[in-house]
Amino acid sequence: MQFGIKDKVALIGGSSRGIGRCCAEALLAEGARVAICARGEDALAETAKTLRKHPGGEVIAVPADLSRSEDIDKVLQETRTRLGEIEILVTNTGGPRPGRFTDLEEEQWDGAYDLLFKSALRLIWGVLPGMRERKWGRIIGITSVSVKEPIDNLILSNVFRSGVTALFKTLAREVARDGITVNTLLPGLTDTDRLREVYGAQATAKGVSTDQIMAKIAGTLPQRRMTRPEELGQAAAFLASEAASGITGSALAIDGGQLRGLT
Ligand code: NAD
Repeated sequence: MQFGIKDKVALIGGSSRGIGRCCAEALLAEGARVAICARGEDALAETAKTLRKHPGGEVIAVPADLSRSEDIDKVLQETRTRLGEIEILVTNTGGPRPGRFTDLEEEQWDGAYDLLFKSALRLIWGVLPGMRERKWGRIIGITSVSVKEPIDNLILSNVFRSGVTALFKTLAREVARDGITVNTLLPGLTDTDRLREVYGAQATAKGVSTDQIMAKIAGTLPQRRMTRPEELGQAAAFLASEAASGITGSALAIDGGQLRGLT
């Protein structure tokens, strides 16, 4: 299959590790020119160094906290100056803090709004005019299976990712005539450093290894394994491709069958 995105400029949020990094890697493999960003400068520089080993790969790294508008402006500006107009956008950050309704203060709701919803909105504000002008664009949001089946103790994630889904779905119809597609990818339980950190804490409390806990959980899943972050990256590269030009407004679960619902 021809992906047709060689030399396209792609900006990927939260991409020093995990799903965002795999999206960057998959787009690079298709010849895109990629801007990665994350808060931690050292980890980001290390990731950029590794990604640059990719044959023909062009990668820039811009340290940024995507929950802050001034950092988003910086990422957009640096990407444009160093790579050109952004043609492919992948919105992604880390997840918000866990908790139930009664655990959370107003400040934490505001923080999750900035991290999950406003970051996507601000990035889209930044890239949409250029995409419309050139009549081509790809906007891909990383959300979660929680938008189809809310997950207990993750109310902030459940609420704001559903808002992102509604934003993307609505926008998809508004910009369809401009050659821009707008889709979300819903990771199921995905074997990333973040997940290992979460289960690592549980493992320590139970006196077992992280691998033991991960294997036990994986054993309950339909594929008897967790989703691999590379599988999200491949799906993002496909949605960014010419081959996927007819797909817009979709919310595609990459979850190995973890979701049970019909839609
Ligand atoms: P991760 O924590 O491993 O990676 C997140 C990346 O985003 C890192 O590069 C981190 O530095 C960066 N980041 C975090 N906050 C940022 C900010 N404010 N500004 C800029 N960069 C920021 O997470 P992951 O497992 O790759 O997950 C990616 C997203 O998908 C998260 O929102 C997560 O909640 C969601 N998700 C993950 C899973 C899973 O099982 N891993 C499942 C469903 C949804």
